[in-house]
Amino acid sequence: MSSVTVRVPAKVNVQLSVGPLREDGYHDLVNVFHAVSIFDEVVANESESITVSVVGEWADQVPVDDGNLAVQAARALAKHAGRAYGADLVIRKAIPVAGGMAGGSADAAGALVACNELWGLGLPFEDLLEIAGDLGSDVPFALLGGTAVGTGRGEQLSELPTGGVFHWAFAVADGGLSTPRVYAECDALRAAAGAEAPWPQADEALLAALRTGDAPALGARLANDLQPAALALRPELAGILAAGRDAGALGGLVSGSGPTCAFLAADEEHARRLADALSESPSCRTALTAHGPVSGPRPA
Ligand code: ATP
Repeated sequence: MSSVTVRVPAKVNVQLSVGPLREDGYHDLVNVFHAVSIFDEVVANESESITVSVVGEWADQVPVDDGNLAVQAARALAKHAGRAYGADLVIRKAIPVAGGMAGGSADAAGALVACNELWGLGLPFEDLLEIAGDLGSDVPFALLGGTAVGTGRGEQLSELPTGGVFHWAFAVADGGLSTPRVYAECDALRAAAGAEAPWPQADEALLAALRTGDAPALGARLANDLQPAALALRPELAGILAAGRDAGALGGLVSGSGPTCAFLAADEEHARRLADALSESPSCRTALTAHGPVSGPRPA
């Protein structure tokens, strides 16, 4: 095989509960991931060495050296296989960069699947999941797709079957937010308030809403412990959240570490109307619609 193409989705966290800071620098989380239909494409072409190029709207913000998570994934896979394999990776970027939608993790997951195929390794999914966990907390879910509850630092996944399709509008803010910076701000806000971080618990009402496909119930339970920190760092996000509420969203929240904000809609047409309204908001660079859950990366 001389070339393999995979599509890999973005995610939104419908519940992100952040527990105490651990000794290893991570937080214990309950992270309910939901894969949505905004896709990066990762192509792996035969090559002597591992290289990457990036095309698309967000390309100029993505490193094309060893800092690229897709390159790190390909290298980790070659190391696991015990051979100096090469691949020329081409990423067509549609997932906003540093937007809290795990685009880098998506590309890493895409590279694992594409290179496993290109190099004819035939590694089982469980092996890819293990390599993914070493690459980053969000990479295992990016490989899995669908909807899943993540515990630990988010990498221990339990799949959650959902009872229907959910429709979303996303407001992509100008500029990114660094995930470590948002976690540090969350710790600082808690310390300033003298508040102990509670042990994170899955919200049973939210899980039930996902299982039954009940969008109004899900909208009412959307929750993100990183939201106050993202708002402290980017106060203009409050205006975007208010715009979504005013436009009749079933619920809205900052996605992961932000600054993208996600709004749940009643149906596809409602999602389009929400996106139109959000794109009028001054700090919204672009508004997108998507549905979820969608599958993780598979070779085409
Ligand atoms: P998360 O939701 O997992 O916190 P994010 O969506 O906020 O992640 P990413 O888009 O994954 O953020 O990118 C974070 C940083 O990682 C970027 O600023 C970029 O420099 C770097 N990066 C490395 N590889 C990639 C890649 N393939 N795509 C996007 N960013 C990448």
